[in-house]
Amino acid sequence: MEPVRAARDTSPSPTLVRFHGDLPVVAGGRCQWLEDAGPRSVKDAVEAAGAPHTEVGNVLVDGAEAGFTTRLAGGEVVDVHPPSPGEASPLWPAPPRPPRFVADVHLGTLARRLRLLGFDAWYRNDAVDTELAAIAARDARILVSRDRGLLKRRSVVHGYCPRSDEPEEQALELARRYGLAVQATPMTRCVRCNGVLEAASRHQVADAVPARSFEAFDTFARCTACGHVVWPGSHLEALAGFLRRFAATGRSTAGLTATIGPD
Ligand SMILES: [Zn+2]
Repeated sequence: MEPVRAARDTSPSPTLVRFHGDLPVVAGGRCQWLEDAGPRSVKDAVEAAGAPHTEVGNVLVDGAEAGFTTRLAGGEVVDVHPPSPGEASPLWPAPPRPPRFVADVHLGTLARRLRLLGFDAWYRNDAVDTELAAIAARDARILVSRDRGLLKRRSVVHGYCPRSDEPEEQALELARRYGLAVQATPMTRCVRCNGVLEAASRHQVADAVPARSFEAFDTFARCTACGHVVWPGSHLEALAGFLRRFAATGRSTAGLTATIGPD
């Protein structure tokens, strides 16, 4: 689509922002003229054109590598590229390996999928934006949100805006972006509360497991935070398709036949 340049006589010259790859993640077009600007930073220009800075992998200003704080006077061409999957961006410190996440209030199912795969995924259904941003900064967590305004906060270093509104597809997007398949450790984290699971003996869980499951399985684990007991559950079958798709995003060494208990 050809950029539309509004008629305007006053200086400074407009800056052209061009998005590449799967950017931008908001409506507004892949090429945008920023007409109303005086001098400003690359970060401000990219976000004025619609993409949160967390979605940016690298930026070229008139063909030269630039940083978020690079100053624009007007008249430049700014090319914005998404991060390469699984690779560090020159604009960001690398997130921890394995990555930790904080999910906004709309992404509870995604958080549970991440926990199922063994990833530390902070989630509360009553969390407010300031809390989410603070936790992301404090713990170097990747803030996952479809709220672009939240991701544009200066304190948010690592963030991801899911393109899909379907939780399993969102998890696969994260898997591709951060190379999760080789870092997954299923059956190590509580789906309910994000606590760490530890192995439990049959004797320890006898009262918490229905008789039929108690007879059928030998492996049990218990959450060190909330006490929830898990074992090879029947709904693993329902998730088998998801686990196969997740493994296919990378050369998974994870024990994806690992087991989970009921929600
Ligand atoms: Zn728990």
